[in-house]
Amino acid sequence: MGGPRRLAGGHPAGDRVRGLRCGRLSGELHCVPPEIDRPRHFPQSPRIRRGGRWRRRAGAGQRGLQTRRGRRVGGGARPAWHRSRAQGALRPARRARTRANARVSTVFDTTGLERCIHCGLCLEACPTYQITHLETESPRGRLHLMGAIADGRIDVRASDATVVHLDRCLACRACEAVCPSGVPYGRLIEETRAGIAQARGTTPLGRVLLWSVSRPWLLRAMAALLSVSDRTGLRRLVRRFLSPGLRRLDALAPPVGRPAYRPVRVASPRSSVALVLGCVMRASYGDVHTATARVLAHLGTEVIDTPGQTCCGALHAHAGDKAEAVRLAKQNIAAFERAEVVLVNAAGCGAHLKSYAHLLEDRPNWAERASGLASRVRDVSEYLAATSADEDFGELPIRVTYQDPCHLAHAQGIRAQPRALLSRVRGLELVEMADADVCCGSAGYYNLAQPEYADRLLEPKIDAILATRPNAVVTANPGCMLQIAAGLRTRGRTDVPVLHVVEVLDRALLAR
Ligand code: SF4
Ligand code: SF4
Repeated sequence: MGGPRRLAGGHPAGDRVRGLRCGRLSGELHCVPPEIDRPRHFPQSPRIRRGGRWRRRAGAGQRGLQTRRGRRVGGGARPAWHRSRAQGALRPARRARTRANARVSTVFDTTGLERCIHCGLCLEACPTYQITHLETESPRGRLHLMGAIADGRIDVRASDATVVHLDRCLACRACEAVCPSGVPYGRLIEETRAGIAQARGTTPLGRVLLWSVSRPWLLRAMAALLSVSDRTGLRRLVRRFLSPGLRRLDALAPPVGRPAYRPVRVASPRSSVALVLGCVMRASYGDVHTATARVLAHLGTEVIDTPGQTCCGALHAHAGDKAEAVRLAKQNIAAFERAEVVLVNAAGCGAHLKSYAHLLEDRPNWAERASGLASRVRDVSEYLAATSADEDFGELPIRVTYQDPCHLAHAQGIRAQPRALLSRVRGLELVEMADADVCCGSAGYYNLAQPEYADRLLEPKIDAILATRPNAVVTANPGCMLQIAAGLRTRGRTDVPVLHVVEVLDRALLAR
């Protein structure tokens, strides 16, 4: 037992850091929100001002209570409504608690939480812990918070601090990949967020983004509108009058004007696959889909049409909108029912499609179909590495560095395959960057919801990329492509393009 040494002592910044009380709880939790560090289910006595200093109202033991036949009577026996009134005078009315409502718990599936042995081996892998060195910003601390929410010690409707700590999680699953106990962290954070969303609702930003991505027609219309405003110069003009938040949204908006997906026909296909077109990928990276289809065609594999498919629902699941995630999953299960292999070229979508079995496990009519689809999903690099062992992908003299998308490396364990494919392009030099598998800060719409943390992750990522002096950055997820491209733009390095693995293979094949 025992994590990094700094956990054992107080925080270097003192015993109160960013509104958190620091100290040891159950021997492990270092910094905890005030709600968790108090006796279970009993409201804390209200603070009163006395002698120029704020103090806690005297507890039963200090008040010189009357006794009757040796039994205490008085303050301790006061009914809950009495304490509630006293607290109500000191707190906003909606925070006044009685013993009954202080025990409100948020219901969600905590299966796997009990596997955590608090060893702390995940702490060094966690990007947010590396930024803050706060236990509550670590996987172990967040698991502790999840447990406290589930058993009612924390009421998420009243504890903004707890929700902030959980919101700051990237859901990158780096902790899950190194956990010796097999704690299913990714699933637990999604379940927790679903519980929190039920109790508190989703943020306005989240609602708008989630509503948009599950409507492909809307994304297409927005892309067309942005494309026109780009060409006419209107976007540049409007940008000057935008608030900082909207300017950030504009800077991180998916690219417009890239060619749409064009299916590639194969004369005598040896095999066929379905391709997940997704939401952002379909609207903004259609040419990556075309490149995927061309590389597959080179191997004699045809991409079949699957018109009923839609957004995979990964963003909805990560944000706690489970109902919409389930609706989208059902639509995709029906659409891909007849495909033998379902290929994905967006790491986040692939990881989520592979988890459909869990998402629908409690729906009897869908569970089997969901696990059937999940077993047929392959990331494109996983599929190509397995089916093109002796293939010559041609020549492309270029120096590149590869960024591991979190949901490919940590969630799907796919690290070697993209590198193996790149190594088969003659003339291509792959230079590994430092910490290639540390999150770039994209993480769905994390870079919009948590801009400060996202920027603190992006800065060292761009440093690591530029240190390799690459001609291009290669990755395998649209979110990473957007985030890294934005970081390079900020440094004035638009000469370094960000490419998908299949784009590199396609360019090499086209140059033959
Ligand atoms: S999540 Fe895993 S690695 Fe992290 S503290 Fe718990 S058991 Fe250890
Ligand atoms: S998912 Fe990523 S950010 Fe969240 S606790 Fe795990 S390692 Fe940290």
